[in-house]
Amino acid sequence: MPGESLGFIGLGRMGGPMVGRLLDAGHALTVFDTSEQAVQPLLARGATRAGSAAEVASAADIVLASLPTPDIVHEVALGEQGVAEGSRAKILIDLSTTGPGVASRVAQGLAERGIQAVDAPVSGGVKGAREGTLAVMISCPRPVLETVEPIAQAFGRVFYVGEKPGLAQVVKLGNNMLAAAALLASSEALAMGVKAGVDPQVMIDIINAGSGRNSATQDKFPRAILPGTFDFGFATALSYKDVRLCVDEAEALGVPMVLGSLVRQMLAVTQAKYGAASDFTSMARVIEEWAGVEIRG
Ligand code: NAD
Repeated sequence: MPGESLGFIGLGRMGGPMVGRLLDAGHALTVFDTSEQAVQPLLARGATRAGSAAEVASAADIVLASLPTPDIVHEVALGEQGVAEGSRAKILIDLSTTGPGVASRVAQGLAERGIQAVDAPVSGGVKGAREGTLAVMISCPRPVLETVEPIAQAFGRVFYVGEKPGLAQVVKLGNNMLAAAALLASSEALAMGVKAGVDPQVMIDIINAGSGRNSATQDKFPRAILPGTFDFGFATALSYKDVRLCVDEAEALGVPMVLGSLVRQMLAVTQAKYGAASDFTSMARVIEEWAGVEIRG
């Protein structure tokens, strides 16, 4: 409900716009990020600064987090000056992609401090975060859903996955492995077309009107690959982390993941060549280099 005291930790590509939406919806927000650059624009919009995750959790009833890696989520939740050391918060909604292992360890550690963890990974990219069109996958006890759903609806459509901590993470990992696989497969198809002499824009238009269409051909190619900007807004390191977590989880469950393993290695190649901070659409550049073409519209 507007006026409720919320906190937000991790104000990056996703967290920044999500905080913007909560402010627009009338919530009071206390925020923290280790990067001053990430904090400044939100202070200007009315958010209050905190000096640590614990300070956020001492100022707010419900804390949200959007952090890059499982280790950082674990540290911010349970480490020194972490959420567990706050005096007020009763709920931590984690919007990051952390994998089910860390999600359940964090849930257990927070439960010991009387804080309920809500696993809430999101999909839909920076554009979705800005426009409020994300898919928000939630696992938590059902009665808690009633409290957090109205907040999560500020980000997009809410899907309830189940009670068990980490269950929503499993869905998210499957989704992100598929998104990266679609990017890889589409890059291969487009490189072939371009090398044969097809205009890549024409090929994308045809695929998007046909049975090969996917999130890469509909969104990533038009926005970040055909223009050659490679700025879709999702870092190679984060996509690599997601697919690694996905393949590891599949292995732990006894599910062979042959294609997922290939995608994982292609992201390793992309990271080795273009760096952890590069945009994950740079995977297309690896294929371009191997094929000796550029896919530009
Ligand atoms: P990002 O790197 O842009 O933002 C992360 C923010 O966390 C940064 O501002 C960073 O300074 C801050 N941070 C790092 N360590 C911190 C700490 N110890 N305490 C406080 N703040 C800290 O990453 P992002 O793209 O916004 O992604 C965030 C999460 O959302 C990741 O788990 C990612 O996998 C997931 N995700 C990203 C996208 C996307 O398209 N970018 C889409 C869906 C989900």
